[in-house]
Amino acid sequence: MPPTGKIYDYLVIGGGSGGNYLSPALLESPGAVGLIEGSGRLGGTCVNVGCVPKKVMWNTASIADAIRDAKEYGFPEAGSTKFDWLALKNKRDAYIKRLNGIYERNLEKDSVEYITGMASFVSKNSVTLGNGDEIHAKKILIAVGGRPTIPKVPGAELGIDSDGFFDLEHQPKRVAVVGTGYIGIELAGIFHALGSKVTIFSRTQEILRPFDHIIKDTLRKEMLNVGVEIVTKSQVKALAKSEGNAINLSYVSDGKEGVAEYDTVLWAVGREPLLEKLAVDKAGVTLNEKGYIAVNDYQETAVPDVYALGDVCGIEQLTPVAIAAGRRLSDRLFGPEQFKNSKLDYRNVPSVIFAHPTAGAVGLTEEQAKKEYGAENLNVYVSEFSGLYNAMKTHKTPSAFKLICAGPEEKVVGIHIVGAGSDEMLQGFAVAVKMGATKEDFDSTVALHPTSAEELVTLTKGNLKKN
Ligand SMILES: Cc1cc2nc3c(=O)[nH]c(=O)nc-3n(C[C@H](O)[C@H](O)[C@H](O)COP(=O)(O)OP(=O)(O)OC[C@H]3O[C@@H](n4cnc5c(N)ncnc54)[C@H](O)[C@@H]3O)c2cc1C
Repeated sequence: MPPTGKIYDYLVIGGGSGGNYLSPALLESPGAVGLIEGSGRLGGTCVNVGCVPKKVMWNTASIADAIRDAKEYGFPEAGSTKFDWLALKNKRDAYIKRLNGIYERNLEKDSVEYITGMASFVSKNSVTLGNGDEIHAKKILIAVGGRPTIPKVPGAELGIDSDGFFDLEHQPKRVAVVGTGYIGIELAGIFHALGSKVTIFSRTQEILRPFDHIIKDTLRKEMLNVGVEIVTKSQVKALAKSEGNAINLSYVSDGKEGVAEYDTVLWAVGREPLLEKLAVDKAGVTLNEKGYIAVNDYQETAVPDVYALGDVCGIEQLTPVAIAAGRRLSDRLFGPEQFKNSKLDYRNVPSVIFAHPTAGAVGLTEEQAKKEYGAENLNVYVSEFSGLYNAMKTHKTPSAFKLICAGPEEKVVGIHIVGAGSDEMLQGFAVAVKMGATKEDFDSTVALHPTSAEELVTLTKGNLKKN
């Protein structure tokens, strides 16, 4: 706790992605910043129950895929894919613990005062940790993130959420994943690649609803091809205990009722802001119609000197977005003159789905581009192919690329790619989109061969999609 009467220049609530990145200018005065974290571990969702442990699990699953492919690549004695879930979990947890320590040491190095406890607002300039003491600041940043939503159905507590996925000590044999956003699809893919029998429950006929059709259709077909079951137009009605530790899941799909038994049911139906403890109303901070903190382009809430960013605002809920918004804001508030208008441009934020294969997107989907530019002003190039890695394999993992170009100058306004390597491929192409590249810029770039990425700079009139 800070000494009585201390007033921080900047008090950050939440030591996750958005809260941990502060302007160098702000760090010049030791002790000017206080950071409150309620979970007892720094790094937030991304480090503890998000991107980082998820990517470790995706890597593990990809190794299982590679072991299976090895035989076809001339390794007749390639090893089995028998996998020790608990050993990997323990190693992964130890790695995360090291990261928590690094975050803590970085705060110390930067002379940021680290305070542990769950913060609640008392007024616009003060918070309490529930022990009666108050912490005061001239400016306060809310970066408290979100948490998984659990639907209100009978027996819901028998299921786990994405946080619980990382607590699992044994690999379940039969898994139901309820929800088809990127988190559900990624975790379903990991379970499947490691040998669990996976069933996905989708409310609609699709998966990955906000993404372009080329991504959602290609990945849906591939999941079905490799043996993942997808129950479409379905609604989960209840969970109940079954024999042993199993769970009976009751559902309705396309009007028909059904019951199926699983070892694990994973809720992946969305996320919501973590606001209960924070009492933002005491500061006068208002929420938008979806229940997230309402902010303007400069991360300003309805109350002067109280700011919010990251998942708690519900816009582009990704780690680099929270980090970038945090940097821009503290640069603007405390940095030199050159940053006085600094704010995050939320357009053309790239995102990746760590599925099998991976997929990535930047810019507008075809549907969004039609709305913005009119279908008649778009050229949409599509290439569906099988990458060279598949040449030695019986099962051909698909690749499908879409380039959306607008206007007579064919400005590239959307790129949507599925296929091995899409995750690493997209970052460079996102730079091109951000810079306003045209199809001609892509055409005049010499290809890298033999890669899948070259497909994006060799699209011709023959690839034009006909409506
Ligand atoms: C399974 C999963 C996979 C993901 N994968 C990716 C990915 O591959 N790439 C990507 O870019 N993003 C990914 N994300 C999203 C990413 O983790 C979030 O967008 C990001 O962490 C948001 O940062 P934040 O700072 O807003 O919140 P968080 O990182 O969640 O940090 C908020 C912090 O505030 C603390 N807190 C909450 N309330 C209080 C309080 N009252 N007082 C004090 N402290 C409080 C919390 O304990 C937490 O540490 C994933 C998320 C999940 C769940």
